[in-house]
Amino acid sequence: MARLPKLPNLLERKIYKTGQTRGADDDQIFQNRVGRNSTVLIPFPVWVQIPALHTIKYENGFIVLVNPRDFFKVAKGDISAHGLEIGRNALVFYERRDEWLEFHPDKYGFKPPTSRIAPLGGQYVARIANTTAEADERINIGYTSTGLKGAGIRLYEYADTGALGTTRIQLEAVFWHAVDAVEKMRAAGMTEDQIRLRRAAVLDHAAKLGLLDYDQLVGARILNADREVVCPLCLEPISVAGFLSRLPQASGRERHDLTVTEINLFHIQELGYGVFNHRPYNLGWGHHHCNVVCKDSGIHPTLEWMASVMRRNGMLN
Ligand SMILES: [Zn+2]
Repeated sequence: MARLPKLPNLLERKIYKTGQTRGADDDQIFQNRVGRNSTVLIPFPVWVQIPALHTIKYENGFIVLVNPRDFFKVAKGDISAHGLEIGRNALVFYERRDEWLEFHPDKYGFKPPTSRIAPLGGQYVARIANTTAEADERINIGYTSTGLKGAGIRLYEYADTGALGTTRIQLEAVFWHAVDAVEKMRAAGMTEDQIRLRRAAVLDHAAKLGLLDYDQLVGARILNADREVVCPLCLEPISVAGFLSRLPQASGRERHDLTVTEINLFHIQELGYGVFNHRPYNLGWGHHHCNVVCKDSGIHPTLEWMASVMRRNGMLN
């Protein structure tokens, strides 16, 4: 694509960051704010249950995490029947103190890893919560240093470079369908010409890549029947102001708008293990609050839950 007029920085960053993971804290095994094409962590039971996972070519590899009891008791120290080898593509993952004591890594000469890519340089990783007892301090071992924080990302967060590119293009194309996109981009400093050029080029590019199928976008609740961007849960048309809430108000527009709600990336189907949810036609823009509400259960179960709350409150029959 020819060089296009730039988007306001905040918006550019917001779209770029959709390709990164988030929501993991320092004590977790997961990496935070890294590309979705990073090393994937797969729990051993999931690996065993879903053979289709074995043939996927993850761009930065994968690590299967095996619970100590599964490894030492059930598998008797041998998981080669599952195509796995501790230290190469699998690690023993300690999360419970009783297992840490019973199967202590020192007994087996286990070391923490030094790499996310095979060979891993070690055999185990530990993230064990502290308890009220003073002797029971938190145990964080393996992938804790600044340059190597977190072992990898959640399986369902994974997207390859191709999907990262197409989802970003689709998300910008969708953005340009917001009711006030043109007006707000003008206020944020883009000229009329720049807006027209960028919008037309992005929509054209998206259409050519098959990313602008309106039936699918509407069906997925990303746009409404009028082709406006809506929050996938509450279906309210999205104001672009929510993308730029930290942007200084453009001159002559100092009026403080209290109704501005933060807009976030919204995964339409929050899927479990075995399916990747970061893909075209599964990503929209929605209210931060709505996103939090339906994060784990998904849109339809959340709507049913909301209806039951309304009914119990006598606000719905
Ligand atoms: Zn909403």
